[in-house]
Amino acid sequence: GSVIGIVGGGQLGRMLSVAASRLGFRCHIFEPSENPPAGQVAEYVTTAAYDDHDALRKFAESVDVITYEFENIPTEALDVLQALRPIRPGREALRVSQDRLIEKGFLQDLGLKTAPFADITDAASLEAALAEIGAPAILKTRRFGYDGKGQARIMTPDDAAGALADMAGAPAILEGFVNFTHEVSVIAARGLNGEVVCFDPGENVHEGGILRTTTVPANLTPMQRMDAGLLAGKILNALDYVGVMGVELFVTPQGLIVNEVAPRVHNSGHWTQNGCTTDQFEQHIRAVVGWPLGEGQRYADVVMENLIGDDLDKLPGYAKEPNTAIHLYGKADVKAGRKMGHVNRIVKD
Ligand code: ATP
Ligand code: MG
Ligand code: MG
Repeated sequence: GSVIGIVGGGQLGRMLSVAASRLGFRCHIFEPSENPPAGQVAEYVTTAAYDDHDALRKFAESVDVITYEFENIPTEALDVLQALRPIRPGREALRVSQDRLIEKGFLQDLGLKTAPFADITDAASLEAALAEIGAPAILKTRRFGYDGKGQARIMTPDDAAGALADMAGAPAILEGFVNFTHEVSVIAARGLNGEVVCFDPGENVHEGGILRTTTVPANLTPMQRMDAGLLAGKILNALDYVGVMGVELFVTPQGLIVNEVAPRVHNSGHWTQNGCTTDQFEQHIRAVVGWPLGEGQRYADVVMENLIGDDLDKLPGYAKEPNTAIHLYGKADVKAGRKMGHVNRIVKD
């Protein structure tokens, strides 16, 4: 049987490993931190830093194909891996999604709508961008942000200096504030042969910058639903993408606006574990090993709720609920804001 290399050993790597194992594949995790959640499931784990090129080479040589659950892999590490084994999704998807400025430009070149944006390098460029885009706006670091980290809201121009200080010198992008009615995401997959399969869009509610719940079906018109699938397909094709991608969208009266893309399985796709025959994790494994994709049809209405930090205390109650599937990540220490697991509730009417 083939061995699948997964860079990153968090919960996404863990659930990818579970799915791979169901299909008879073995997994090898590469992860810098000790005792990663995926390490409890995968057959092999390499604990090494991304600048340990010998460890990267050994890892690559031990696997047949390399994928990842984490998009901020350093470029030099990717060079080492790519010299030895195919990386799926490919480098272009990483290049585009690692940097919000490049990502926005890429989306606009495809004819997709994004928030108005500008490259921010200093106080003068921020002042000019604010004059152009207007407030409210959001200043974000171009790279490494997640769960709303590395962002500062600018409600009035007076907030500009403080927001810029929050970036701590990191390259940044200013985004005009999108007046959305709600947020949705499409989880889409593209196979090695170019076939594209989308899951039904989910509606996402965030709390403190972190995803709280995803509900399917989302509140969308049939046209918006079709639009979401088409734009996701456009992005996947443009990147010659292989694997699963999460596309985050703002719903506005003027149509769908793309917020950001994640070149990997996505938290807002966890509902597929209990709503579809092939979930996003199996879909991703199918794509990267060159299998036909599973169908994306949804068989149930589902509400996915993240278990964050102390939410774990609610587990005894949740475990007694009917139609509730519990997914835990095996993380030993509970920290505020840390994703510990999620539940998928099948909604019956
Ligand atoms: P993730 O954990 O999804 O990767 P992130 O840290 O990359 O999150 P974003 O998705 O850019 O951050 O922003 C987090 C949330 O902040 C969005 O889901 C949305 O609710 C809000 N937000 C971000 N950008 C804008 C915008 N331009 N206009 C309005 N709201 C926004
Ligand atoms: Mg993000
Ligand atoms: Mg986001």
